[in-house]
Amino acid sequence: METRATRDGDHYVLTGSKCWIGNASIADVKVVWAKDDDGRVGGFVVEKSTPGFRAQDIQGKFSLRMSRTSECWFENCRIPAENRLSKASGLRAPLSCLSQARVGVAWGVIGAAIDCYETALAYAKSREQFGRPIAGFQLVQEKLVWMVQEITKAQLLALRLTRMMEAGTALPVQISLAKRNNVWMALECARKARDILGAVGITDRYSVIRHLMNLESVRSRHHGDQCIRRLA
Ligand SMILES: Cc1cc2nc3c(=O)[nH]c(=O)nc-3n(C[C@H](O)[C@H](O)[C@H](O)COP(=O)(O)OP(=O)(O)OC[C@H]3O[C@@H](n4cnc5c(N)ncnc54)[C@H](O)[C@@H]3O)c2cc1C
Repeated sequence: METRATRDGDHYVLTGSKCWIGNASIADVKVVWAKDDDGRVGGFVVEKSTPGFRAQDIQGKFSLRMSRTSECWFENCRIPAENRLSKASGLRAPLSCLSQARVGVAWGVIGAAIDCYETALAYAKSREQFGRPIAGFQLVQEKLVWMVQEITKAQLLALRLTRMMEAGTALPVQISLAKRNNVWMALECARKARDILGAVGITDRYSVIRHLMNLESVRSRHHGDQCIRRLA
């Protein structure tokens, strides 16, 4: 973490930059994690109109296009000292946000997987080749069964994880691995669904390719890269 928050009287001066920040160019308020003079990580509230702050949207995304993703710069950006989050001290604070977000992702990707399954099933029943619906071929059925099986496992995993979150017993590593599993599951469902749809699967007539591209982002997004998660 290279962004710095230097104390100056009753202000902090933020210096640094952040990349790939969701909706930063339009958000009225941002929470910026930065190191203070003691090298301790803190959370700092920065309002949109603060001099020294600017943001620019990243162009050319094929994925998660419904939200903006921005690059932000803090150049001698002065904020009142009271804008520091008083109870957020050290890396634990931003990491706890990530734990909550990862559980949301572990659930959210199941929705994408279910839509891929239902789309593929409906298509397989209606698309005829060699005189019968492709849903009648065992190779196609095998893909559909795999999807239902993995979706069911992912649902049970997410439910158990949520119960543990509610009881306060979920470990960060368990949350991380659950997210990793469910994102992998959803991506595999999207790939199999796209396969069943054949050529039309790459068009926007069906939702599958959109899920596939969005899930690629979720795989490496702000909740942590999927490869790095393997280190968990
Ligand atoms: C659409 C979108 C929205 C996002 N929104 C946010 C947001 O709101 N807030 C936020 O904070 N971030 C956000 N991110 C950023 C996201 O957290 C990072 O992109 C992600 O953590 C990966 O970092 P990176 O892109 O710098 O990749 P890098 O760190 O450059 O990694 C590139 C590759 O190198 C590998 N690699 C890196 N380091 C190592 C290592 N030590 N050992 C082995 N392999 C390594 C990685 O596994 C990966 O395969 C967003 C990203 C996207 C795509």
